[in-house]
Amino acid sequence: MPDRYFSTRPIDGATVTLDGSEAHHLLHVMRAKPGLELTVFDGHGGEYAAEIAECKRSTVELAVGKREEIERELPFELTLAVALPKGDRQRWLIEKCTELGVTRLVPLQTARSVSKVEKKEKLTRYVIEASKQCGRNRLMKIAALTDWTALLSTCTMGTRMIAHPQGEPIARVETRRTENEAIYIAIGPEGGFTDEEVASTIESGWQHIGLGERILRIETAALALAAHFAIERRI
Ligand code: SAM
Repeated sequence: MPDRYFSTRPIDGATVTLDGSEAHHLLHVMRAKPGLELTVFDGHGGEYAAEIAECKRSTVELAVGKREEIERELPFELTLAVALPKGDRQRWLIEKCTELGVTRLVPLQTARSVSKVEKKEKLTRYVIEASKQCGRNRLMKIAALTDWTALLSTCTMGTRMIAHPQGEPIARVETRRTENEAIYIAIGPEGGFTDEEVASTIESGWQHIGLGERILRIETAALALAAHFAIERRI
């Protein structure tokens, strides 16, 4: 895959200007010169062949070529609502969810959540870096911090699952899912969901998924489920 760069500006003409960390990387790490060919995308689908037209002090002007309608999205919407883990584990989780094709990540506030969620700009930067690497041309969406009651009241359609150690094996849940139906998965904090939170999902039609006999860390449970649904019909 050729070197990929992200444009914060929508690409809708024959030129586009890269600035910020993308321009910095080209100017000061790659020591790029006019004429260098690369691929640019703006996160709204498709990618473009481009060539550096001019290097300025802190920006790079690109001559934009043909749009390639390349989509690397899943054929259904996959939303992960996660009580995010601490520190660097947030970055790791966001990168891997992006690589696996998760459509939307919802930072989840539950009764036992303790972690401070990093700023949306920082989380989005992790999404962009992972998208550059894995070839995704649409950015995984990062929702605002959402509390448990709001999640249940907004997710009313699709296959909804809560990961819970006492849940049923995943194979039984899948048989109840129609093809390409949207999927919502909720993953709890280190201290787990409270009994009240678990009980409230039953009335709201969420299924309880068990992932085996061992207790997994937040990001392991999230990635195991994302990987399962993202690749189930692809390998
Ligand atoms: N003591 C907590 C409990 O019993 O729920 C452990 C919480 S675990 C560190 C964090 C989250 O990962 C859980 O709330 C659950 O959503 C998910 N999880 C971890 N292990 C799991 C398993 N074996 N089956 C299903 N979900 C699991």
